[in-house]
Amino acid sequence: MRELETKTIVVASHNQGKIREIQDLIGPLGFTAKSAAELNFIEPKETGTTFEENATIKALASAQASGMPALSDDSGLVVDALGGDPGVYTADWAETGNGTRDFAMAMEKIENALEKAGATKPEQRTARFVSVLCLAWPDGHTELFRGEVEGAVVWPPRGTQGFGYDPIFQPEGYDATFGEMSAEEKHGWSIGKPQALSHRARAFKLFVETCLEA
Ligand code: IMP
Repeated sequence: MRELETKTIVVASHNQGKIREIQDLIGPLGFTAKSAAELNFIEPKETGTTFEENATIKALASAQASGMPALSDDSGLVVDALGGDPGVYTADWAETGNGTRDFAMAMEKIENALEKAGATKPEQRTARFVSVLCLAWPDGHTELFRGEVEGAVVWPPRGTQGFGYDPIFQPEGYDATFGEMSAEEKHGWSIGKPQALSHRARAFKLFVETCLEA
């Protein structure tokens, strides 16, 4: 385990929703963060078949391009009745074919696949969001942190907050979807608070405990 000694890092992402969430999480810790998008880094191809592999590819690419430690997130929605799909291909399900992403369409694809699988009852629609964060240094050292949150896919989509698939994901024990929660409610985590709710906040908590509080 390696401690992070600098307060300047690169957020190895081109996804504005993720960049905002990671900046919300690291900001209070006194970090200055530039994103790979702002630095005009080329987005590496996500050729891995696991969240860990893809997170590592992204963090190493940004750490080596910048000469600074870089933090990436590879995440996705894992739906039990769909055999774990869309999983590592969650972003791909939103591809329109002309270089843009359409999440209303992607959410509908999930719903159609669930209906086709006969998963209409709430207990047949269990799912989890997974986030794997990778912190990489320019010398090639990496640390991985995985966070998961259990819940269910709901239909129709509810709420306009958050990003991506938030409007169809209702975390276990809550009446609201992530799309209906403020950023604070979705993360459920801040410095000194023991709990975390979102997959990303849970992974982030491990990162803080491992690399900042060691
Ligand atoms: P990645 O860039 O390959 O990691 O793509 C992950 C995809 O999963 C993103 O495009 C999002 O649509 C989706 N996703 C990940 N985390 C969240 C979240 O917190 N809320 C909603 N969608 C998410």
